[in-house]
Amino acid sequence: MHFLSMQDPMIDSNARILLIYTGGTIGMVENPESGILETFNFEHLTNHLPELKRFKFSVDNIVFNPTLDSARMNPDHWRKMVKVIEDNYNDYDGFVVLHGTDTMAYTASALSFMLQNLTKPVILTGAQLPIGKLRTDAKENLITALEIAADKDEMGNPIVPEVSIFFQNYLMRGNRATKMNADNFNAFKTFNYPYIGQSGVKIWYDRKYILTPDEGKKTIFHYRLDENIVVLKLFPGIAENVVEAVLNIKGIKAVIVETYGSGNAPMESWFLDRIRDAVRRDIIIVNITQCPIGGVDMQRYETGVELAKAGVISGFDMTTEAALAKLMILIGHNYDIDDIKIRMRIPLVGELTRLEDRQNERVYGKI
Ligand code: ASP
Repeated sequence: MHFLSMQDPMIDSNARILLIYTGGTIGMVENPESGILETFNFEHLTNHLPELKRFKFSVDNIVFNPTLDSARMNPDHWRKMVKVIEDNYNDYDGFVVLHGTDTMAYTASALSFMLQNLTKPVILTGAQLPIGKLRTDAKENLITALEIAADKDEMGNPIVPEVSIFFQNYLMRGNRATKMNADNFNAFKTFNYPYIGQSGVKIWYDRKYILTPDEGKKTIFHYRLDENIVVLKLFPGIAENVVEAVLNIKGIKAVIVETYGSGNAPMESWFLDRIRDAVRRDIIIVNITQCPIGGVDMQRYETGVELAKAGVISGFDMTTEAALAKLMILIGHNYDIDDIKIRMRIPLVGELTRLEDRQNERVYGKI
């Protein structure tokens, strides 16, 4: 773990936090008669979490109807979350979104782009064990996420005015996170970016890694997303007809190619010809590495150089989740193709570290 230069939080006792429960394991309790896990009634939140009464700030809640296992999330649910946040933006100091862990990193990535110029915390959390289980991680995750959402700095501004994930003691930038453990409590990690906070006996923040909002800019809530995107994961032996079929999906506008290592792909002429043909048809092809740590550098090997020459653009060290969400929003806003290609290479909300930045500031290996 890298060294954290952290500060003591200052919880604002007048803060108002909105808790948005979308579904997932966190909000489940065991039916004492049947033993089946059921969504608990959020009206009775304080019965299950009497600790909430001890907060000095207030917590209201909104429950999705119906609540969802996060495997069922789609862009309409993201829009619903953005709408709830927009409708309540001026009345609350921060938002905590309770969400299933399975697709939490996708939702966090999407929200980070849909909530432009965010000035308040939007913290996603969940749990590996239901809130009604004795050994649950839900209480700790929820209580700490609420505290973080209410924390202010010495100027009275929210300490974490960005979309983040809090999970098992770690606060992470949402569009850098990936679910990496299906069994343990430490379900998430940001492999290419330091943790932005950590909880222990205190909550500490690493403020140099937290986004600073431009107070002069208005917060904009985006709803337009284009879903005509596909992820193509390469593997040795991938067949020409498979690649051809993917690149010719009706209506497809962008393809994320999950490549090897620093962004390498097969050099067979059929493969490069198929890619060139797709680029000529204005399909955006983004190179994301299959490696969880590090990023794409298409100048390192001939195999990468050939991809770059064919018109593939680098996704640097973005996660697949972030690249997908970014393409959905950029294509959804009808920017022209060249504009989208430029914006894919620029960090919009801290979702990527360009090669030159990586060389200047080595964030890798510190985590
Ligand atoms: N399948 C559940 C979900 O993602 C798992 C969880 O909540 O952790 O909704």
